[in-house]
This record gives sequence, C-alpha cells and structure tokens, in this order.
Amino acid sequence: AASRSAAFLEGLNAPQREAVETLDGPVLMLAGAGTGKTKALTARIAQLIATGTARPNEILAVTFTNKAAREMKYRIGALLGDAVEGMPWLGTFHAIGVRFLRRHAELVGLKPSFTILDTDDQLRLMKQLIQAWNMDEKRWPARQLASLIDNWKNRAWRPEQVPGSEAGAFNNRGTELYAAYQERLRTLNACDFGDLLLHVVTILQTHPDVLAQYQRWLKYIMVDEYQDTNVAQYLLLRLLAQSHKNICCVGDDDQSIYGWRGAEVGNILRFERDFPGAKVIRLEQNYRSTPHILAAASGVIKGNENRLGKTLWTEETEGEKLRLIGHWDGEDEARWVGEEIEALERGTRGMDPVSPDGMAILVRASHQMRAFEDRFLTIGLPYRVVGGPRFYERLEIRDAMAYFRLAVSPTDDLAFERVVNTPKRGIGDKARQTIQRVSREAEVPLLMGAALVLRDGLLGGKAAANLREFIENMARWHDMVRSPVVPGQDDALVIDDEAPSAGVSHVRLAEMMLDESGYTAMWQNEKTPEAEGRLENLKELIKALEEFDSLQGFLEHVALIMDNESEETQEKVTIMTLHAAKGLEFPVVFLPGWEDGLFPSQRSMDENGLKGLEEERRLAYVGITRAEQLCLISFAANRRVFGQWQSQLPSRFIDELPRDHVEVLVPPGLHGGAFGAAGRHSGTATPDPDSLEGRATRADVYNAPGWKRLQSRAKAAPAAPKAVRGAAAEVHFAPGERVFHQKFGTGTVMAVDGDKLAVAFDRAGEKHIVARFVLPADG
Ligand code: ATP
Ligand code: MG
Repeated sequence: AASRSAAFLEGLNAPQREAVETLDGPVLMLAGAGTGKTKALTARIAQLIATGTARPNEILAVTFTNKAAREMKYRIGALLGDAVEGMPWLGTFHAIGVRFLRRHAELVGLKPSFTILDTDDQLRLMKQLIQAWNMDEKRWPARQLASLIDNWKNRAWRPEQVPGSEAGAFNNRGTELYAAYQERLRTLNACDFGDLLLHVVTILQTHPDVLAQYQRWLKYIMVDEYQDTNVAQYLLLRLLAQSHKNICCVGDDDQSIYGWRGAEVGNILRFERDFPGAKVIRLEQNYRSTPHILAAASGVIKGNENRLGKTLWTEETEGEKLRLIGHWDGEDEARWVGEEIEALERGTRGMDPVSPDGMAILVRASHQMRAFEDRFLTIGLPYRVVGGPRFYERLEIRDAMAYFRLAVSPTDDLAFERVVNTPKRGIGDKARQTIQRVSREAEVPLLMGAALVLRDGLLGGKAAANLREFIENMARWHDMVRSPVVPGQDDALVIDDEAPSAGVSHVRLAEMMLDESGYTAMWQNEKTPEAEGRLENLKELIKALEEFDSLQGFLEHVALIMDNESEETQEKVTIMTLHAAKGLEFPVVFLPGWEDGLFPSQRSMDENGLKGLEEERRLAYVGITRAEQLCLISFAANRRVFGQWQSQLPSRFIDELPRDHVEVLVPPGLHGGAFGAAGRHSGTATPDPDSLEGRATRADVYNAPGWKRLQSRAKAAPAAPKAVRGAAAEVHFAPGERVFHQKFGTGTVMAVDGDKLAVAFDRAGEKHIVARFVLPADG
C-alpha cells in the first residue's frame, strides 16, 4: 500500500502532504484561493481508499455543487488508475440528504417515495395557508414566508424550536404557519429543499441507534468550501463526526460569500473548539495565478476588518498586470469584451492564444448577462451560461416575451396559454378547457376562441370580466404594434381618442403591456430579493428592445438566440455569476460592471451595512482569484435603466486595487477613433496626453482628462440613440445572392420576406435569418 500511496503524494507540497497523510483525527485546512485545498482533499480520499484505510462507501465527502462532485469523482478515478466503484456519499449536502432520507423517511412521518417540491409548488402551498389564515396576500406574500421558513430551516429549527425572539415574524403568525406547512407537507408525503437537511438532523438527533450506525459506517468525513456551510449543515457534520472525529474540513474565510443564505463563517472558528486538538494546516503557496493577480486580490481583501488573515505567494515571476478599462455604457462594455475575447483567441494581446474554453465572464448580477449574450450572438461567438438559465430562458423573460408575441401575432396559442392567467385572473383549468374546446370547434386561435366564450356567456363572474379586459388589451396592443411610430413622438405616449394607438414606440409599448397587464405588479407585490431580481431582468429586457426598431425584429433576434444551442462539443466562452464561480479557475477572467451600486451591490450594503460590504469584497476576491493568467476589470459611465440614462461611479473596489499591478487601458472612442475601435493603448510607443496609462485608482481614472471627456459626453447627450444595429439592414438582398453570417459562414439567399431571409448555408444548411445579421459576400 505504501508504494501505491506514493503516487498521490508526488507533486504535493509539504503541508499538502501532511493533510493527505494525517488520516485520523480532526484536520482543518485553512488557506487562500488556489493553494490546492481541493486538490489535497481529493488526494486524501484517494489515499484513504488506496491504502485500504477506508472503503469508498465509508467516506462522506461534501462538495458545494454537483459539478464539483462530478469533478472530484473523476479526479479520484484518475488518481486510482482504475474506476472507483462508486462513492455513494460523495455529493452536495442536498444530494447526501436525499439519499439518507429515502432510507429513513418513516422516522419523520414520510414514506420512502416522498416527492421533493420545487419552488413553485412550495409557494402554492404557502399561498393556500396564508389564505386559510385569512391574511392579506398582498401584504404578506408567500415568498416572504418561504424565505422566512428557509432561514429557520438553515438554522436547524423545527417549528417547536423557533425561539421566542422570532415570535413577531410574519405578522406574529410565522411559527404557526411554519408548523401548519410542515404538517401539510407530511400529508402530501413531500418535503422541500430545506427539509433535506432538517429532517436528517432531526433523525440523527432523536434516534441514537441510527446515529450510532452512521457514525460507524461513515468513518471519514471531508468537506470542501467549509466556509459556506450553514448551521444545519454544521450540526449534521458534528453529529456524524462526534465519535470517531475523523473529519477534515477545508475552506477560506475570505471566500465566504453565502452569508445571505445563512452560511456562517463562524463555523470555521468553532471547529477548533468543537474538535479540540484539531490539526490546523495552512497552505500558502498558490499554484493558480500570476503574482500580479495575487497581489491585486490581496490588496482588495485587505480592506476587510473581519478576517483571519493569510499570506499567499507564488513561485511564478512573469505575468500580465490586471487590465482596467472604463466604457461609455454597458453595450460598449459588451462590445469591448467580445473584441478582447477574439483578440485573445488570435493571440494578439501580448499572450499566447487562449481558447474560448479558457475564458470566463463573471458578473455580479444575472441581469448583466443579457448584453453579453446579445453581443456574442451578433458576432457569432459561442458561449454558455453556467448555473442558471440563459437570459432569454428565464421564467419572467419568457412570460414577458409571450405578451409581446401575442400582441404581434394573436394566433400564437402557446403565448396565449402562457399569459392568459399570468398574473392570476381567475381563469382556471376549467375555463381554459372551455376556451380550448370552443376554439377547436370553431377552428380559430385561442385568443379568438376566448372572445367566443365570452360572447356565448360560457364564463361568468369576475373571471369573465377579467378575460374581457385581457382580450381588449391584447386587441389594443395588437393595433399599436401595427401602427407606425410618428416621428418626433417616439418616446411620448400620446393619448388621443380617435387614434389611441398613434405614436407609441415599440419600447414604450412593451413597458405598457407589462404594466397594464398587471405583470410588473405581480412581482412588485412579492417584495423579495428574488422578485427584485426578476424585475431587474425585465428592465434589462426593455433595454434590449431599444436596440431594435420593432417588436417583430426583436422577437426574431431572440428566436435566433434560442437556436444557438446546437453544437455542444464546441469550445465556448463561459458566462456565470461570481457566486457560481467558486472553486473554479480560468486562464482569462473578465470582471465587468465594477460600479458602485452594482458591485458592491447597493441592496447588499443597504440590508447588511458593513457586513454586506465585506461580503461583496470577498466576492471581488473570489472573482480575481479565479484568473490564472489575465484578469480584465471594466466599468461603464452610464447604464440605461427603463429608458433613462443613469450615471455610474466606478466601484470603490477599483480604488483598492494596488496600482503597481494594474494597467489602465484607454477607453475606446477616446483615442481618436470611433466607438468600438477598442485597442490596447501602448503607452510607451505613442504618448498621448489623455493616456490613463499607469494610473490605477478610481480617483486617477476619474480625474483623468480623457475620462472627464467621456463623462461630459454622456451628460451632453444623455439619450442620444446610437446606431448599434441596423447598418446592414440598409442592404437589400435578392434570391440567388451570396451572403456571409458570422456563425453560419457563407450561403445563398433562397427567399426574401421583408427583412427576413431564408439562406441555404454552404455548411450549416438552411436557416432563417434577419437580414441585418448577414453581410453581402462575393462569389
Ligand atoms: P479555491 O480556494 O479557489 O477553491 P483551492 O485551494 O481549492 O482553490 P485548487 O483548485 O485545489 O485550489 O488548486 C488550484 C490549482 O493549483 C489547480 O490547478 C491545481 O491543480 C494546482 N495545484 C494545487 N496544488 C499543486 C501542487 N502541489 N503542484 C502543482 N499544482 C498544484
Ligand atoms: Mg477549491
């Protein structure tokens, strides 16, 4: 066994080896980003198995995501040379919880076949309870109750354990409703995500025999990303490890970013108290990033008062400084990122070529993704969105788009079904079945069928009134879609009895639809962070509309985006949130949107003060330390929110970047050229009075003459429309002509329908394309 084990020790440094070889007793590996914590943990599992110290099913190993679990399994397999025959207890807390609960469901009053509710089901249940308690749903929305109960479950409080200090929660009814909710779940033989942990903790706490059994079985316990465990998870670990104490946790207090979800950094500090004599191993050598990246990350995190403090060093000496750049607005930022990615791919940015797989864009808020997705589609750059649906696949976006689709084409039955009762109009299953039957018999689309249902009095009461309003609204909006925009009245809503539809831009119309249908209000009434996120996405959707000249053009554009799924094997750039990027690494990392309010997030600071700001700063640290070779940080001077320009201040975190490790790039458009002529300014070769070269702090950037000019330009022409798209729309294509498309290559136009083309591409086959996305090609 000794010789086999040597394989995993090779290539590990001394403290890593120590972690791998100290198999018995409590071990805490506390170390900064990229120091090989996960690598050491993985080697430790392989060591346990290879030396025969434990069998694969005697090891409990917890990762933060399913992806990380797969990765770890794969690496263990690679280390052991042969496939590990199953590690049943390797996974996320939730995955492990389900497995356990299926075996012992009856101990908490469930059957082993219990179902796991999704958020929608969970909310519906809570709504029913709120109604049954005669509470005003508007003031006391289900989502608020859901997040309250979630919080309690994260703390491992069963209904009877919720402390008196919480008695005032949810109009003094919180605990009562919690108990009733748990009772309902039991009757339904169901549980929610929080229960996957809570029930397990409950069973272990109340059944000593079961606890003893698992303590015997699970001889070794290992936990990655320990800094983000919550109290319930902590209790579970402590229960299982209590007798044998073979527990190894690895984490980094500077990367604790889930405080808002109940994670407690304090768990790290508690570890040494609960497991006296724990061996604490510190890793200081970083193997991931260049010295510049490390220095910048350390410089930022230094701003936090509440930290244990660590040093990081690397043997590497060479490397690129961080690159920092300001832009006119978010669209320019997206354009610049696209251009940089292509330049990096070609190897023209002072580095060896980087594959798209090696590049990631990490955003603070998911609504930031839209601008990048749109831009990448336009230039044909393959991308994937990790951890959550792509922008146009989000629930609220699909709802909103269904309204637009139905207004554009009243025959769109799928869109009708999606929105007729969203928000709730009292049109239940039975009413919908009636509409479907009438439509089928009359052979008309559902929207018209609905009108027939009303005419024939097949629906009564409030539902009928609501349906009538819905149909009339739709008809009115449909007229507006068709009526041309009156020049000069673009942004004003002109109300005129004779021609109620005249002069409304498609952007304004879209806003109207969402507001007047009650859709916006539906989310506003929820008053939860999640609903706020959805409202932000809706604003972002409206912003996207501004780049198109009609709703139809926009809908076609989105249809093309959705078609972009195809080739899975292709190398793609990754777009994801900072939160989802934990534990990952990429050669090149883009960190856009470094603006106060966006990052650090205003909401986080408002709700949690200094604590919130410190958590944001840790997010910045996580972001920077994902980069291996190059980290590019950007911000915009203006962002457009609901058609209004908003001036943005560069993030305070930019001030905290140590200037020696940052190169400031000249904003595109300041360097004589037009917008979009992004280029890295080589400060030494062509001295420029406006150059921002060598300046790193926010004040420097802000006071630089070039930046001032950019700002004054923003102020002078706050709403100046920019011709972002549409240049190619001027070109009129005819069948037989040769065209070029960034993604599909060259092809021949087969048919023309307005601005839509059917093109037979030489390699990609026949596609329907909006004319503005292709260029004339010769031959
Ligand atoms: P994070 O805090 O971001 O999760 P981490 O501490 O878990 O980081 P790892 O992901 O395990 O760090 O390792 C970072 C990188 O360094 C990986 O590419 C890993 O393969 C490499 N690495 C770790 N230890 C060594 C070593 N001893 N020799 C060479 N490379 C190493
Ligand atoms: Mg890790």
